[in-house]
Amino acid sequence: MDIKIGKTTLTLILGDITLEETDAIVNAANSMLAGGGGVDGAIHRAGGPGIMEECRRIGRCPTGSAVITTGGNLKAKNVIHTVGPIYRDGNSGEGCLLVSAYRKSLEIAVKNGIRSISFPSISAGAYGYPIKEAAKIALKTVVEFIEFIIEQGKPELVRFVLFSDRDQRVYEEALKDLMKIKGVT
Ligand code: ADP
Repeated sequence: MDIKIGKTTLTLILGDITLEETDAIVNAANSMLAGGGGVDGAIHRAGGPGIMEECRRIGRCPTGSAVITTGGNLKAKNVIHTVGPIYRDGNSGEGCLLVSAYRKSLEIAVKNGIRSISFPSISAGAYGYPIKEAAKIALKTVVEFIEFIIEQGKPELVRFVLFSDRDQRVYEEALKDLMKIKGVT
């Protein structure tokens, strides 16, 4: 599914983010930047040890923040590592932290002249964020950011790379609902 917001295209696809050829891919990292399972492990495996070396030099990344490294052996030139919240009960500030993870990733992308960027569904795996809520927050934050930078028109492409049919369907429903709320059909 594709939508256009000003000059920017927002796309939802099913796939493996490590294969993406966008300028940057986003990693759902942990605050120690220490690597781990899920998408984090997959990115470091595919990108090679250089990315971890850069992470070690950077040190830590607080929850809701983002840092950037090169893409090592990946096709993407850069990896933006962001740390989403661990989901507890939905009333412990998780929403704000998830918004911040997406926003900081996009800010760092703009600052680095990145024209295309791919996101996984941050916090929706090991960190336990319910996928429907995670999708709603992710899409609202990204759409509002694109609307905010509309004059600039960069990044030109923002892509969500979902890892299962179900996640893709949930994101598609959430995007349709968001467009309805905004009065776009
Ligand atoms: P977190 O700790 O932030 O929850 P995870 O890596 O456990 O991060 O999961 C985040 C999301 O990334 C989940 O929806 C998971 O299914 C998905 N995911 C895992 N591997 C990949 C991959 N190679 N490409 C895209 N998405 C992935």
